[in-house]
Amino acid sequence: MNLFSIKDITALLTRHGFNFSKSLGQNFLTEAFVCEDIVNLSGISDSDCVLEIGPGIGSLTTKIAPAAKKVVSVEIDKKLIPVLGETLADFDNVTVINEDIMKCNLKELIDKHFDGISPKVCANLPYYITSPIISFLLESRLFSSVTIMIQKEVADRICAKAGTAAYGAFTVFVQYYSDPEFLFKVSADCFIPKPKVESAVIRLNTRETPPISPKSENLFFRVVRASFAQRRKQLVNGLFSEFKSVISKEEIINILTSLGHKPTVRGEELTIQDFSDISDALFSFCN
Ligand code: SAM
Repeated sequence: MNLFSIKDITALLTRHGFNFSKSLGQNFLTEAFVCEDIVNLSGISDSDCVLEIGPGIGSLTTKIAPAAKKVVSVEIDKKLIPVLGETLADFDNVTVINEDIMKCNLKELIDKHFDGISPKVCANLPYYITSPIISFLLESRLFSSVTIMIQKEVADRICAKAGTAAYGAFTVFVQYYSDPEFLFKVSADCFIPKPKVESAVIRLNTRETPPISPKSENLFFRVVRASFAQRRKQLVNGLFSEFKSVISKEEIINILTSLGHKPTVRGEELTIQDFSDISDALFSFCN
């Protein structure tokens, strides 16, 4: 069986009585070269343990398995489990778990299946839940790298530079935990069924320590979210609406100007270091 032939995929799925679920983000890759490029650029070697999220019918899994020491693939759709039993039968280093990735205890999974060794993530993510999965993985700080296919628009946001339209709170969040690299674009023609959007593959090289050391991580992320909450408005208004119980508008303007910013500065103009400096200046007001 060729997992990259539309004819074979259709026959396989018909035999298993499987229907695609739009709500589970089921768009399966039909191009072997895309799967091979994802695996090559993820840097997986035969000493690596790999977590795959959403194996689908196993197209990407069949390319990860020969390159890795061990693979655990977490698939939410129980109808795909017998399909994967068939397509992955030749690989003795793959374990399929029928679960919602967001409900997995990642630490327990790693201890149980990978003897506690920090794994790499390699996946074609379900697009309806891209950002929550990325946040879940990064906040766990359990992975050495995360190579994923996602919507191109989200990839652009993650890799954006300060001062550009795509730069926002999620950019800062992801860049706090990792150094993201845009790898390549993937056309909608490479999937069955075709998604409505263009896709891209990125690699998040996770950081051992963040690029900044704010006095309070919680306060730092509160500042970042508040700074982008009213996107086209000036930063001072976003910060004031979040922190008005502890600080006046004039005091916020004083903080901004003392840090070398114009009172009219907007969130998208600031670097991660700038947000850290502002959150440190707010620290004494909040504690
Ligand atoms: N890896 C396959 C490929 O590249 O052809 C399928 C990728 S498809 C975009 C996403 C897969 O994630 C689907 O198989 C879907 O059932 C699964 N999925 C959706 N939500 C999930 C969740 N919360 N946890 C685990 N798997 C999920």
